[in-house]
Amino acid sequence: MGLFGGKKTIRVNADILVVGGGMAGCGATYESRYWGRDLKVVCVEKANIERSGAVAQGLYAINCYMGMQWNENQPEDFVEYASNDLMGLVREDLAYDIGRHVDSTVHKFEEWGLPIMKDPETGRYMREGKWQIMIHGESYKPIVAEAARKAASEIHNRIMVTHLLMDKRDRKRAAGAVGFNVRTGDFYVFKAKAVVIAAGGASHIFKPRSVGEGMGRTWYAPWSSASAYGLPIEVGAKMTQMENRIVLTRFKDGYGPVGAYFLHLKTHTENAYGDEYESKWYDDTRELVGDYVDRQPVPTCLRNHAFLREVANGRGPIRMVTKEAFQDPHKETVGWENFLGMTIGQAVLWASQNIDPKHTNPELTTSEPYVMGSHATCSGAWASGPEDYAPPEYRWGYNRMMTVDGLFGAGDASGGTPHKFSSGSFTEGRIAGKAAVNYMNDMGDEPQIDEADVMRLEAEIFQPMENYRVGRNEITAGTVSPSYILPIHALQRLEKLMDEYCGGITVNYMTNEPLLMRGLELMEMLKEDSDNIGAEDLHQLQRAWEFKHRRLTSESVMQHTLFRKETRWPGYYYRGDHMKLDDDNWHCFTLSQYDAESGNWAMEKAPVFHIKEKD
Ligand SMILES: Cc1cc2nc3c(=O)[nH]c(=O)nc-3n(C[C@H](O)[C@H](O)[C@H](O)COP(=O)(O)OP(=O)(O)OC[C@H]3O[C@@H](n4cnc5c(N)ncnc54)[C@H](O)[C@@H]3O)c2cc1C
Repeated sequence: MGLFGGKKTIRVNADILVVGGGMAGCGATYESRYWGRDLKVVCVEKANIERSGAVAQGLYAINCYMGMQWNENQPEDFVEYASNDLMGLVREDLAYDIGRHVDSTVHKFEEWGLPIMKDPETGRYMREGKWQIMIHGESYKPIVAEAARKAASEIHNRIMVTHLLMDKRDRKRAAGAVGFNVRTGDFYVFKAKAVVIAAGGASHIFKPRSVGEGMGRTWYAPWSSASAYGLPIEVGAKMTQMENRIVLTRFKDGYGPVGAYFLHLKTHTENAYGDEYESKWYDDTRELVGDYVDRQPVPTCLRNHAFLREVANGRGPIRMVTKEAFQDPHKETVGWENFLGMTIGQAVLWASQNIDPKHTNPELTTSEPYVMGSHATCSGAWASGPEDYAPPEYRWGYNRMMTVDGLFGAGDASGGTPHKFSSGSFTEGRIAGKAAVNYMNDMGDEPQIDEADVMRLEAEIFQPMENYRVGRNEITAGTVSPSYILPIHALQRLEKLMDEYCGGITVNYMTNEPLLMRGLELMEMLKEDSDNIGAEDLHQLQRAWEFKHRRLTSESVMQHTLFRKETRWPGYYYRGDHMKLDDDNWHCFTLSQYDAESGNWAMEKAPVFHIKEKD
């Protein structure tokens, strides 16, 4: 194998294997150790858990904290809030489960050294909003990672997991995973009794607003590469709500967060002419979604909708009115610090563009769509619910187990549970870790790895390097070869395809059945071409596999978007051929199951149960 001919095969036997060491992965690692004192708990991470995942550069707020000790909110209130924001479609059993455990997670974070701001008058955690508390969070991730490091038997950093392994005798049961070291090229085979997928969400599925030299600038982490979906989809796990991509309203070009501005600094938005515009679109929105528009707080997608309509009517840009708030030196400090702990790039961008929010109201824009399961959106794997709470239709195994035996999901990987954010993702990791230990303790015989699978996957994983090595001889200069496609070319083709056919920014988030059908044809061609992807080095090999996970995830997003014949979340995307929300036919979850052998997708509906009566 040319340059990497000396690579080794490293075998790791684990009881519990955690794939991804972000918030959910650290939670799963920590809790598996608590319930499984003698177990071998292994966490595998493609970066380094000290600074990996969406919380890598820190956060300024923990967005999911009930405050039950002060009777601020109860889990039932959280369920109602999340369901309301997602236009009625939430796995309320899973959300309730997060709500009842999340406070204890946050208390642990504080115990481990995370500075949480306190209200000087009440002594309680300082609230940014009803659900958010404020932190000095630059070192949030290293603090959480330390707990995982101390709990794990082994942490394997710099290993990109590419495939799951299935039991030799039962192809519907997880047996481990394979991947490669992105620095040395060593091939890794992990055998495990239970696997927790916690590999984060997906950016760069749709063409980003920032292209060319700005390409790395996205709202969700650019390294969130859809493995959390690509890995389980490939082995036939059912997925849910994959059409529910999220679009964020953020400060233009830097994607700086707006939450602290709205909630803490009490700023508001206006159109280019200084007018309030949201109320103008009330009737228009009501026409599309009925009385969902009257819910409080107004669902995130509907606020986007008003923004998009106002801009489409020629009254953009929309601006955040900061000039008044920034006259108060305390608020000015908070406004800047909010970026310095979380999105430094926004502060740098404003400095480079002569924007001082004390004197200029900064522009906002809507982002390209992202696929994730922990924000105001709930794409992910269809997971079994809590034993004491889930209705029978949602319970086929252990808590957070996917429809594949021994395969668990948490954080962005787990579907139907929005608004978990960082603390809820860690909490869900804890829930999944505990359930994985129970699953393992109850199991009879251990899963067995099929060595034929291992050999086949090893060849498949490194094939892009071989494609490059051979194909490179056909050209003398440049990057375009008749025999291979580079990962960046493949990615840009995918982004363009998703953008134009599945409702991205250039088509104002609009799609319809003919567009989706054509998009799926083009997707099939891209899939064929991706067998010929060429990787120049190990870095590019990682990009190649990230692309493959993104591509399969995108196909799933398209299939789900095609299946749901309504516009459930205007402001996230529109089905031009079904412009209205249709509760009679689509007050349900959408489920998909991919068959890797035939390439077919089976789609179905699943019921939504409300655990709390609506007023
Ligand atoms: C800009 C931004 C602002 C946010 N603001 C807030 C906020 O203010 N408050 C709040 O509470 N939450 C906030 N969040 C949300 C929070 O960060 C996420 O909800 C949370 O990180 C999701 O946890 P996760 O474990 O699912 O994913 P992540 O934390 O992203 O972890 C996924 C991990 O998997 C690894 N991985 C991926 N693929 C592979 C693979 N194939 N092999 C091995 N490892 C892999 C990644 O490197 C990463 O370490 C914000 C997120 C972003 C991006």
